[in-house]
Amino acid sequence: MSSEIPTEQWAQVLEKTGQPLEYKKIPVQKPGPDEVLINIKYSGVCHTDLHAVNGDWPLATKLPLVGGHEGAGVVVALGDLVEDIQIGDYAGVKWINGSCLSCGFCQQADEPLCAKALLSGYTVDGTFQQYCIAKAAHVARIPKECDLEAIAPVLCAGITVYKGLKESGVRPGQSVAIVGAGGGLGSLACQYAKAMGLDIIAIDGGDEKKEMTAALGAQHYVDFTKTKNLVNDVKACTEDGLGPHAVILVAVNEKPFQQAAEYVRPRGSVVMIGLPAGAYMKAPVFESVIKMIQIKGSYVGNRRDTAEAIEFFRRGLIKAPYKTIGLSKLQEVYDMMHEGRIVGRYVVDTSK
Ligand code: NAD
Ligand code: ZN
Repeated sequence: MSSEIPTEQWAQVLEKTGQPLEYKKIPVQKPGPDEVLINIKYSGVCHTDLHAVNGDWPLATKLPLVGGHEGAGVVVALGDLVEDIQIGDYAGVKWINGSCLSCGFCQQADEPLCAKALLSGYTVDGTFQQYCIAKAAHVARIPKECDLEAIAPVLCAGITVYKGLKESGVRPGQSVAIVGAGGGLGSLACQYAKAMGLDIIAIDGGDEKKEMTAALGAQHYVDFTKTKNLVNDVKACTEDGLGPHAVILVAVNEKPFQQAAEYVRPRGSVVMIGLPAGAYMKAPVFESVIKMIQIKGSYVGNRRDTAEAIEFFRRGLIKAPYKTIGLSKLQEVYDMMHEGRIVGRYVVDTSK
């Protein structure tokens, strides 16, 4: 390792699930033979990080835990076996930190389904620290012309919604409802959907989110806090009144998961991405059958999806709003996120 790498660094550490974070100094780890060490400059804050803090999901985190999985930075050290990425390269740590690369799922590029997948900021330490380790095979390659601050949210939110849109099967010229469009994943979904030539129905609450989603390319907005009949209002946004071809669910509440099958167009698809705690998907069997709809889950993306999502960004097609705050203030971001007050994404600067 180069002498410029310190032995200690600042990090946000969760000692116990459900408790406040501790901002403190912890040792810098050394990469193993197939790993790289990345000096994280910026990290997006995803709602998943808040689920991890709260212990919402039926999957335990490591403890103590350094959260975060939208980290953009510079490679500063390489394990002995690493050949295809260099010190000084820009790189990103995403949710899938590593996978076995040899199981049937990894063989067919379904790495998120690998039973041995390592999850950044969940089962291994993530990006709310200044130096983070990831498996070289999985580290996102970021072109030098990309801005590390702006690209950070692409590393989870961007990849995930890009994959979800592909999984939906929606085609240019068709329509998509983005449910939770004013949040982190939703704002990126508006931009990817716009770049794909889709007619966008944004669904979220409040005028600030209405204005932002319109600026990001959404032609329509349905305010779930104001509408008297959400199903009818969403259908009315489509030209023939038959509803959108696809629904991308990135909301953090259960209710919209119960409504999507009712307004999706016949032959349409409902893609579940958001992970509200303890939620169930519900759809009327009769309508689902006679409309021949598809309902599916979509979980982050593989390495190819990552490269493609980053390429959209590099070409200047993805410009979603974010606010930057020091890593020391991460708890403030969680507080705002808990109240649903974040419009777009927050990014933390690890130097502050
Ligand atoms: P966020 O807090 O930034 O955004 C959530 C949005 O949902 C907010 O704008 C909120 O107002 C909106 N919302 C709440 N109730 C709603 C309703 N009834 N109708 C419409 N909108 C509503 O969260 P985020 O970071 O964008 O993450 C969203 C969810 O996606 C989280 O549960 C997260 O864990 C999950 N996620 C899943 C994957 C995956 O691979 N499947 C990847 C990343 C994140
Ligand atoms: Zn995420």
